[in-house]
Amino acid sequence: MSYGERNYDQPREMYKTTCSECGKECEVPFKPTEGRPVYCKDCYAKHRPPRRQGGGGGGGHRHRREDY
Ligand SMILES: [Zn+2]
Repeated sequence: MSYGERNYDQPREMYKTTCSECGKECEVPFKPTEGRPVYCKDCYAKHRPPRRQGGGGGGGHRHRREDY
């Protein structure tokens, strides 16, 4: 009979990298991919796409065909 395994709260593995924006050393919870920009927390927030208001409607120029 095994005594319940203890599940320690393991800290997430962090990877040290350099922010592509401010050049600061930072740690990210994922493995940085080569060739892809990595941002620190601050810059990441800045780079997050802003919430779109409204939305909907696949607008765009639509050529209207007129039959006559
Ligand atoms: Zn940064």
